Amino acid sequence: MAQPTPICPICRKPTDPASLQFPFCGERCRTQDLANWATGEYAIPVRPTEADEQWEIPTDGGGSERGRDD
Ligand SMILES: [Zn+2]
Repeated sequence: MAQPTPICPICRKPTDPASLQFPFCGERCRTQDLANWATGEYAIPVRPTEADEQWEIPTDGGGSERGRDD
């Protein structure tokens, strides 16, 4: 199976997986990536969680009947 050639996420140039700078093509792009993080370029918009599920505990009307007569 032929592996797809990895590309630098910054400049989209083919990169060498064996490189120390992988997945970047070079130190320059690696630094650029860090800078992107620092400037919020990669910031993921945070959505408020809508998983505010309400736990409705069903009330079982009457109390428990213990039919234990001795
Ligand atoms: Zn690059």
